Amino acid sequence: MTRDIINKWKNVRNNSQRIKILMKPFVKQKLKNHIPAIESIHTDVFKSFDCLQCANCCTSIPPIVSSRDSKRIAAHLGVSKKQFSEKYLTTDNDGDTVINASPCPFLEDDNRCKIYEVRPSACRQYPHSGDYQFIENLNLHQQNIRYCPALFEIIKRISILSKQ
Ligand code: SF4
Ligand code: SF4
Repeated sequence: MTRDIINKWKNVRNNSQRIKILMKPFVKQKLKNHIPAIESIHTDVFKSFDCLQCANCCTSIPPIVSSRDSKRIAAHLGVSKKQFSEKYLTTDNDGDTVINASPCPFLEDDNRCKIYEVRPSACRQYPHSGDYQFIENLNLHQQNIRYCPALFEIIKRISILSKQ
C-alpha cells in the first residue's frame, strides 16, 4: 500500500493544477460536519502507511525547534542547550528557529530518527492532519501535499467524503 500511494503521489506532487483540483471540494463549512470522520481517515492512513519507506519530510523540510524541544533534545544528547543550538539550529526566512540542514542530521540511513523519543513537536505533528485544526490549515495542506504522500492519500479520501 505504501509504495502504491507514493507512486500515485509522485505523479501529482509537482502538478499545481491537479493539486488545485484535488483541494477544490474543501469547503471549511462543509468539512466541519465531518471532523470525526477526518480524524479516523488520518488514523487509518497512518496505521497502514509505512513512513520508513518515505522520510520525505525529514529530507525536505527543516522542522521548527522550540525552546522546550531544544532543552529536551540537548538533555537527551548530553550537551548543553547552547551547544545543541550552535551545532544544529539556525533561523529561517520567517524568523523561526529550525534545524540547520536538510536532510535532517538526525535522519539515519534506514530512515529512522536518531532522536525519535525526544524529536521536535513539529515532527510529531507533521503533516498536521490528526485533529480538528485540519480544516483550519487548508492552505498549509495545499503546500504540504507536495512533500507528504500520506497527506495526499488523506486529502484524496476526505475529498470523496466532502462531496457526499
Ligand atoms: S512525508 Fe509524510 S508520509 Fe513521508 S515520512 Fe513524512 S509524515 Fe510520513
Ligand atoms: S528530528 Fe527526526 S523526525 Fe524530525 S526531521 Fe529530523 S530525523 Fe525527521
